[in-house]
Amino acid sequence: MNPMAKRVLVTGGAGFLGSHLCERLVEQGHEVLCLDNYFTGRRANIAHLLQKPNFEVIRHDVTLPIYLEVDEIYNLACPASPIHYQYDPVQTTKTSVHAVINMLGLAKRTGARIFQASTSEIYGDPEIHPQVEEYWGNVNPIGPRSCYDEGKRCAETLFFDYHRQHGVEIKVGRIFNTYGPRMHPMDGRVISNFIVQALHGEPITVFGNGEQTRSFCYVDDLVEAFIRLMATDAEVTGPINLGNPGEFTMLELARKVIALTGSKSELTFKPLPADDPKRRCPDITKAKTHLGWEPRVPLDQGLAKTVEYFEFLLRKGVI
Ligand code: NAD
Ligand code: UDP
Ligand code: UDP
Repeated sequence: MNPMAKRVLVTGGAGFLGSHLCERLVEQGHEVLCLDNYFTGRRANIAHLLQKPNFEVIRHDVTLPIYLEVDEIYNLACPASPIHYQYDPVQTTKTSVHAVINMLGLAKRTGARIFQASTSEIYGDPEIHPQVEEYWGNVNPIGPRSCYDEGKRCAETLFFDYHRQHGVEIKVGRIFNTYGPRMHPMDGRVISNFIVQALHGEPITVFGNGEQTRSFCYVDDLVEAFIRLMATDAEVTGPINLGNPGEFTMLELARKVIALTGSKSELTFKPLPADDPKRRCPDITKAKTHLGWEPRVPLDQGLAKTVEYFEFLLRKGVI
């Protein structure tokens, strides 16, 4: 057992990012409590951890209070893709407001440090490029993405108010688009969509003219950043951008996926969804300075591992 072992709560632990984080914390010898209501998370994501003596799962909706004794909290619970967060937008906002108040209340009572999985969506459709943490964003407060964007903005407000008002130790990471094995195959995100379409030989759906950009971070790199941020000195509160600054257009991404899968799929162009940001790329100077961190996995390498995962799902008949 790790003599520095802590009791760590991971909300949203059965999701894509949460399951990778749980895996890493279990490997490090911590007592890991994974909490999830399985809205978008799946048991299969954590099945390999269930036999570990230092891993435990609680089925619970974090919008309702819960009393646990822990040393650290990683708050990841929240549907993350537009299809899922727009399915029940009121519940999405509740998950960023009521659930965040509960987790901050828990941190306040136990003295636990708490990490918030915030997002680049805080910047909305950004007017400055690349995005620095000081930028306040350009967010539509009443559109179809607002339940997520404004919810996450309010969550950041709550984090900083609990910090100022109650001295809670907070760590806010603004996550940019992340990909890798265990991404939900049906959540409509561009990397999973393109890979699944390519593997089935179906047309690859490019929204708009495909010239919009995103910066994609491989999941292992991101989890490393979470753990480093949690371990920083108390005065490092963030917000800190966590992402890969390599910027690609959706057309470039489509070509890479076709090349990697050897697919015969062709491109088909569909309308751009409402409020779809045109460019997105993190400035990660703060992460480099405070965490000594930068992503290591290049897009081609990470895509190859993600393709392998989806090929596995295809063989199992899941996709
Ligand atoms: P995900 O959907 O795979 O994981 C979210 C998890 O939270 C799921 O397991 C879901 O069942 C659970 N959950 C949702 N509402 C809940 C509730 N009320 N109570 C308990 N559990 C609940 O998504 P992900 O990609 O792993 O994202 C994790 C976090 O990171 C989210 O907060 C998301 O907003 C943030 N984030 C992700 C990305 C990305 O690119 N993946 C980018 C920015 C921010
Ligand atoms: N809470 C929780 N677990 C705890 C402590 C608090 O779920 O261990 C919830 C509780 O329901 C409360 C919320 O967190 O409503 C906010 O807690 P806080 O102490 O800030 O507020 P108060 O209890 O004073 O309203
Ligand atoms: N996108 C696309 N085809 C798809 C799914 C998404 O061209 O099948 C585009 C989408 O319009 C956006 C980009 O890819 O410009 C990234 O979309 P995603 O939903 O993955 O992330 P987000 O928009 O939240 O950054």
